[in-house]
Amino acid sequence: MSQSDREQWRFDTLAVRFGQTHTGEAEQSEPIFPTSSFVFASAAEAAARFSGESPGNIYSRFTNPTVRIFEQRLAALEGGEACVATASGMAAILSTCMALLKAGDHIVASRSIFGTSVVLLRNYLGRFGVDTSFVPLADVDQWKRAIRGNTRMFFLETPSNPLLELADIEVLARLAHEHDCLLVVDNCICTPALQQPLLLGADIVVHSATKYIDGQGRCLGGAVVGDAEHVGKDVFGFIRTAGPSMSPFNAWVFLKGLETLGLRMKAHSTRAAELARWLAEQPKVERVFFPGLPSHAQHALAQRQQSDFGGLISFELKGGREAAWKLIDALRVISITANLGDAKSTVTHPATTTHGRLTAEERAEAGIRDGLVRISVGLEDVEDLKQDLALGLGGR
Ligand SMILES: *Cc1c(COP(=O)(O)O)cnc(C)c1O
Repeated sequence: MSQSDREQWRFDTLAVRFGQTHTGEAEQSEPIFPTSSFVFASAAEAAARFSGESPGNIYSRFTNPTVRIFEQRLAALEGGEACVATASGMAAILSTCMALLKAGDHIVASRSIFGTSVVLLRNYLGRFGVDTSFVPLADVDQWKRAIRGNTRMFFLETPSNPLLELADIEVLARLAHEHDCLLVVDNCICTPALQQPLLLGADIVVHSATKYIDGQGRCLGGAVVGDAEHVGKDVFGFIRTAGPSMSPFNAWVFLKGLETLGLRMKAHSTRAAELARWLAEQPKVERVFFPGLPSHAQHALAQRQQSDFGGLISFELKGGREAAWKLIDALRVISITANLGDAKSTVTHPATTTHGRLTAEERAEAGIRDGLVRISVGLEDVEDLKQDLALGLGGR
């Protein structure tokens, strides 16, 4: 499929086929190119490649044919001009900041972003003169008030993990652009199957491909998607220089993941919605956080901005940390692991794992209580998941 087919075909077709190139061996599945470098026919051709006069592969830190198929396919799914694949989701976020910011710049970020993203922005970028102000994700006034003369970037995740709050991407994109800022959205939780931030006005999407894009908990990877200038030139320039590039083997696994992404996101969403309704009825559950429940404060926004509600659920147990750990330790099906987006359901206790490096005060501000449990609902039979949780909730 070529670039012109992008306009013609729909999401699931692009997810299965877009970007594939053929080697001449008549292969049906995309080829893996495990090669560090590429060979030139002559000294003159090598010189032309290096000078940029003639396009083509030089070295896999820069480009690799398998990685390129993944990049083109994800760009098509997100509706972006360019995509650059990275070694992990964190490498995607770091590369975006390194490529597009400089010392003296300021970021306004949601305080409910991935815990490691907070640490990256605050502890590491801060050391190089890029300051970040953290604001409540859904409070537009606070985003407005945090803007300074040197603010160049807004950074957010919607829905947030683990509390599943939403940001109105269109509103924040308008605000960012009024102040000459780029809006960067981490779209890891929804994936383009459920939400396409670039089409809502965001400038850049970052991904942890490790999660739903892989979908089976195998490989680490990430990606940055956006326009040809910021991503195709600037972020690509940083990655080919600094080296957090994606391995061709991982790119191949993610390509296979993209082929089933639409189907899987629907299946995760259906199971999560069923489980959220069930959890909300359990006497030991204080409250459930799931954007698909009418009780969710931003249910209407979720219906408008997303095509479904995704596979993450959080809930707070009466009885704090002790009750949460007791539930987690009683589970026999659901795995205790920090990963999400896997076919296997996973459970975490955010306060003592993913958000354990935040100070108690930061955790309180972010609303991560000790009784909070997060489940990434996998693809098992939902009745078995209910039965598993019922054990931990002391029922049946
Ligand atoms: C996991 C995750 C990341 C980091 O991705 P890695 O692939 O683990 O580096 C970033 N953002 C979100 C929302 C994540 O869940």
